[in-house]
Amino acid sequence: MREFDYQRADDVSGAVALLAGDPDARFLGGGTNLVDLMKTGVERPARLVDVRELPLNGIEESADGGLRIGATVTNSDLAAHPEVRRRYPVLSQAVLAGASGQLRNMATVGGNLLQRTRCGYFTDLSRPCNKRAPGSGCSAITGEHHNHAVLGASDHCVAVHPSDMGVALAALDAVVEYETLDGPGELPLADFYLPVGDTPHRETALPPGALITGVTLPPAPVAARSRYRKVRERASYAFAIGSVAAALDVEDGVVREARLALGAVASRPWRARTAEAVLTGAPADGATFAAAADAELAAARPLPDNGYKVTLMRNLVVAVLTELAEEAAR
Ligand SMILES: Cc1cc2nc3c(=O)[nH]c(=O)nc-3n(C[C@H](O)[C@H](O)[C@H](O)COP(=O)(O)OP(=O)(O)OC[C@H]3O[C@@H](n4cnc5c(N)ncnc54)[C@H](O)[C@@H]3O)c2cc1C
Ligand code: SF4
Repeated sequence: MREFDYQRADDVSGAVALLAGDPDARFLGGGTNLVDLMKTGVERPARLVDVRELPLNGIEESADGGLRIGATVTNSDLAAHPEVRRRYPVLSQAVLAGASGQLRNMATVGGNLLQRTRCGYFTDLSRPCNKRAPGSGCSAITGEHHNHAVLGASDHCVAVHPSDMGVALAALDAVVEYETLDGPGELPLADFYLPVGDTPHRETALPPGALITGVTLPPAPVAARSRYRKVRERASYAFAIGSVAAALDVEDGVVREARLALGAVASRPWRARTAEAVLTGAPADGATFAAAADAELAAARPLPDNGYKVTLMRNLVVAVLTELAEEAAR
């Protein structure tokens, strides 16, 4: 591992100033992803700016009746927070579905959003990878890709985003707040991750050197009935091969409002707006749920070895929506 300098930031403006203008510096959250990538040589920062002591570890009511979650809140504290569990259960469930207790105790909200893909070629320095080495090629398209993207990919990269938390945040219309030398800014999660296109190495719309300071959740009464379901290759401590974050409001057997986001199918948490449009105003039954899933997945472009994901996601969407509708009918 390359030698690096370590600095601890005490305040937000100091953290931003410490990183400014240094392309070889990185913010350090819990380190559960960055340090692994440093060990393999994928990341080779000359300087780490530790942000864990910043005063960004609170979860507070926001003026509009939603919640504001600080960027250094650990995944464990986020999942356990009573208001998150009560008002946004899908978020608590998504976080708890990720990693292990020890990792969640270290991992932060900011770091979780910016964790890198788990595509095996990305961390194998001996193989071409456009995300790690732009222009070198994509080894996964003709190689091992059984857990790669079926939606929104390109000929340059078919990797999926690994975050569970991000899928719930997508369904909840979360907004990411950040700070730069020029002042604060914000990005709705829908605009936070860039489309893959021919620049898979550019993953987010964050300005260079931006420090994520928090995430806001708008009020979402629909989220009181919400669920995260994750399918993985073993029962715990594994990344998703497919996941669904859903919220459903049903009145007199008709869907009043639906939120749906899919995980492990695209380079970013995939908000399923086509499916939501089919659901809204339709009978809350299996036929509607299947039609909604099919409408969303009509855009799927599977590779030779990951076509199973289309069937998996269809069944997962129908199962989760059916459970939520049954709950609503009780
Ligand atoms: C064995 C294992 C299993 C895992 N399983 C899952 C899983 O099932 N589901 C899942 O979702 N995740 C899983 N993870 C990933 C884990 O959730 C992430 O590693 C973690 O969330 C990253 O958070 P961190 O604070 O440790 O980030 P770090 O590793 O510290 O940083 C990650 C990136 O974010 C940047 N960064 C950190 N904080 C900020 C900030 N405030 N502003 C700007 N940039 C910042 C860093 O510079 C770095 O580029 C797993 C990890 C491991 C090691
Ligand atoms: S899918 Fe993306 S991350 Fe994986 S090898 Fe191809 S370019 Fe690299």
